[in-house]
Amino acid sequence: MPELPEVETIVRHLKLRLQGKKITAMCTDTPRLFRGGNFEQIIKRAKGKTIEKVDREGKNICLRLSGGETLAIHLMMSGKLLHLAVEQPSEKHIHFWIKLSGGKYLALHDIRKFGWVRLLGKGNKFTIGPDALAVPLSEFKEIIRKRKGVIKNILLNQKLISGIGNIYSDEILWHAEIHPLRRADSLTEKELKHIHTAVKKVLRLAIKKEGTSFSDYRKPDGSEGGYFRIRKVYAREGEKCSKDGTIMERLVISQRSACFCPKHQK
Ligand SMILES: [Zn+2]
Repeated sequence: MPELPEVETIVRHLKLRLQGKKITAMCTDTPRLFRGGNFEQIIKRAKGKTIEKVDREGKNICLRLSGGETLAIHLMMSGKLLHLAVEQPSEKHIHFWIKLSGGKYLALHDIRKFGWVRLLGKGNKFTIGPDALAVPLSEFKEIIRKRKGVIKNILLNQKLISGIGNIYSDEILWHAEIHPLRRADSLTEKELKHIHTAVKKVLRLAIKKEGTSFSDYRKPDGSEGGYFRIRKVYAREGEKCSKDGTIMERLVISQRSACFCPKHQK
């Protein structure tokens, strides 16, 4: 699933190409992708509007429209947003497209159809926790320290902190030297600071590398992100830890996999 670095990369690519463009048409073959109103209502409200700004809230990609509404897209498991210069998108996994002034398309390609699109009214925001890239240390500590759950699950909970998913939670805990099963309320001040530092370090590096193309994620031009090659622990179970040479392991926590080094992560 695309996480903060992938969504940030997509937003940066789309900003240059979408801002200032007008929505001239929209089409879907899967109306159930639309939330907060049916497709007919959404197209009525969005058509003719200009995309004034592209940004994100957590993992939601937000097209800010003239008039104050926001067309938000969540890619969930397998969604990709493609910026296409074609006659008309016709690929079978494209389930929604927007035609832009100038003739190009923004298309949602989604093999599993778990992604969704929502039109948010003026001033409405998603109910998610502070952004992982922006949350200050004091707030981060407040959010984490009283929780009884294991740290891996806390980092994945978008209502507490938004943007981190399975790949980067593994990477963050490897850098912070914390075992994924540690209870959040057992973490010391120093350990919380290490996790907070690792959050920023890992996410910034992953943005620089334009994300991780492990399965479905691609940039809007179809190319791959570069973080997968330099990852430390995610999907490296059975390989040696680059810090201490120990064979890394994998376990399953709440149906999500967690890869870790059994020696230096405590
Ligand atoms: Zn290690």
